[in-house]
Amino acid sequence: MSHYRITSLRVGEIYVPHGASVMRDPIHCWLVQGQGRNILVDSGMADISLVTKRLRVNGMGGGHPALVTALAGAGLRPDEITHVVLTHLHFDHADNLDLFPDACVVVQRAELMASVDPVPSQRVFYWQSTRDNLLGRKRPSQLQIVEGDHDLFPGIRLLFVPSHTEGMQVVVVSTEKGRAALVSDLGDHYRYWFPADARANKHPQRSLAGAFITGNIRSESERDWQRAMARVLTESDIVVPAHDFRIPVNIPDEWFAVPESLEGDLAHVPPPEIES
Ligand SMILES: [Zn+2]
Repeated sequence: MSHYRITSLRVGEIYVPHGASVMRDPIHCWLVQGQGRNILVDSGMADISLVTKRLRVNGMGGGHPALVTALAGAGLRPDEITHVVLTHLHFDHADNLDLFPDACVVVQRAELMASVDPVPSQRVFYWQSTRDNLLGRKRPSQLQIVEGDHDLFPGIRLLFVPSHTEGMQVVVVSTEKGRAALVSDLGDHYRYWFPADARANKHPQRSLAGAFITGNIRSESERDWQRAMARVLTESDIVVPAHDFRIPVNIPDEWFAVPESLEGDLAHVPPPEIES
């Protein structure tokens, strides 16, 4: 059995309106290592100054420096990344591809199409820098387009889950302790996966026990999205959401389905360290 190790890399934050307040959403990529491969799942967001200019949201980090520093923290240079698997092509998950000219980028065909012709509400989230980089990859070894569920390598399975976007994919990684699903924005916080659980959610919703909270940014119906989340839970042992502060950093050393603490759920701006 092929087992891998996963390191969560935090490469920035964006501050997004949430009701009357503003939420801090961390931006993550994941390093998946094993069998001689260094696989990056998602490639992070552009520099925050560009994000602020285009989308009118504040935050911190992003761009090449944040990603290069995060990789260095794991002992790697960008040219040591062999594969980049993109869960979807939004600006906060699929920028910085020029750092990895020789890596093989793996993306769903439906997502590549969505980046050219997205649902209207998502046009601002698909950036030309990502599209141009992908379309500029001329050698077959630089780009692998997949369609539907796909066994990328033994121990690494891609699940095709249209929901948040038309070509969304979740990466299920076999580890010594079980299967970890890098679910990205298919439920980007624990509270979406476990809405009735008081460990996951500061405001548990008992009426949603056994179901999920789905996101506002969507290409598919709520029913499709609910089905996709249910399926991921049957095909994995833990989920790792993209924008929750509580995700484990080293997997499988840290291993939990539901976080132990509410600290980091619904984190508000301004961050405490800036206040003091
Ligand atoms: Zn997204």
